[in-house]
Amino acid sequence: MSLRLFNTLGRSLQEFKPLKANQVGFYGCGPTVYNFAHIGNMRPYVFHDVVTRALRYFGYQVTHVMNITDAGHLTGDDDSGEDKMVKTAIERNKSVMEIAEYYTAAFFKDTAALNVERPTVVCKATEHIAEMIALIQRIEANGYTYFAGGNLYFDVSKFPTYGDFARLRLDDQQASSRIEVDASKKNPYDFVLWFTKSKFEDQALQWDSPWGRGYPGWHVECSAMSMKYLGESFDLHAGGIDHVAIHHTNEIAQSEAATGRKWVNYWLHNEFLVMNAGKMSKSAGGFLTLKSLLDAGYEALDYRYLLLGAHYRSQLTFSYEALDSARSARRSLNERVLALRDKVGQATAPEALQPAALQRLAAFREALENDFSTPQALAELWGVLKEQNLPAADMLGAACEMDRVFGLGLADLKTEIVTVDPAFAAKINTLVQARTVAKQSKDWARADALRDEINTLGVLLEDSPTGTTWKQTARP
Ligand code: AMP
Ligand code: ZN
Repeated sequence: MSLRLFNTLGRSLQEFKPLKANQVGFYGCGPTVYNFAHIGNMRPYVFHDVVTRALRYFGYQVTHVMNITDAGHLTGDDDSGEDKMVKTAIERNKSVMEIAEYYTAAFFKDTAALNVERPTVVCKATEHIAEMIALIQRIEANGYTYFAGGNLYFDVSKFPTYGDFARLRLDDQQASSRIEVDASKKNPYDFVLWFTKSKFEDQALQWDSPWGRGYPGWHVECSAMSMKYLGESFDLHAGGIDHVAIHHTNEIAQSEAATGRKWVNYWLHNEFLVMNAGKMSKSAGGFLTLKSLLDAGYEALDYRYLLLGAHYRSQLTFSYEALDSARSARRSLNERVLALRDKVGQATAPEALQPAALQRLAAFREALENDFSTPQALAELWGVLKEQNLPAADMLGAACEMDRVFGLGLADLKTEIVTVDPAFAAKINTLVQARTVAKQSKDWARADALRDEINTLGVLLEDSPTGTTWKQTARP
């Protein structure tokens, strides 16, 4: 078998063939650092991490590049609205760079807690303005631009395949009427490559350019930085599904207009994490962060496990019930692995595994080769741990091997010894009993309030048909 992935370019499952044997150039669109990332934003980064780990597991040498957007991203991806960074800076009375630094650090704290490995290259937009200007100059020299109202625009009518990627019908009046009207645009789909004075007179970050002092349009950074680190054509590009119609469509148009050649061969797009009430969005406020899950007593890897349990191309509805299930599954997994380790001490090396374990590893690999099917791959992990007649050392060996891709930290598990203070235990038992009584009398508000109170004391509850058990977490 070989890796087959669902390429947005062509909308089909395709065999993956890298440009250079055994090497993969992979670009994943990174965060705009104007606020905390919500747990939906974490979905693409966990997915990009799984892709990178899986490719490395398959034996490829992967260069994974991720950008940090610290300039140029407006509240509307189509150049409409305000500048996201500037808006937050004004609200918080801080400089744009302070805001960027603060939220970049918060982002990496979250991704580290989720066991997301740091990309090979992390590049900031503000440190690549010269590359962006150089790219825009090439696009201009090739005749794809026009200057109007103080901005340099990309002229989509000069790029006949513009609508192909997202299957847009450019003559669809209804669709184009939804795009905010910018009187300087010749066509609603045209987009800004370089802004000067037209939009924000008091723009904090500005640079000199051949078109005047200003700043780049948001899409330019991904084209310029990916080409700098991966070359003018590369293998793989990923991002959220919301980026197909505007951001990635524009990235393709401007990149190929500059170089005259095909830019990216395979595109992967993750579906959204949704709340029951609809899409979770950073700009709309009122969203869940990883920290809010930690504060409620979960561990970051419970959330990673939840994400691994869904295929990246399926929408995933977040609920605390689903997170509870992920947590208990992960706990059983950890307990199983710890018990195996206590029994045998050492895991069998992959090359010395018995046939039953090797078969599971082969099925695990096949699952990942099937468009990164992590739910199928997880089933193989559970399968090998429940395999009859397999020595414990082989189960452990196969599980640790699979965890190179899952990233659930199985190899580093430590037996957690938490000594519970008797007076504390009595207090918790009283609260748990009160909550059971509240639940029996269907006083859900009180039951929830008691659960919250218990959680804030650093205790996790687990309800089952036979009653409620509790566990003090290692966190203070
Ligand atoms: P941003 O920092 O706003 O540029 O978004 C970062 C990434 O998160 C992008 O790849 C988005 O497509 C993705 N994203 C935003 N909201 C969600 C969501 N609710 N579920 C999954 N991915 C999302
Ligand atoms: Zn991008």
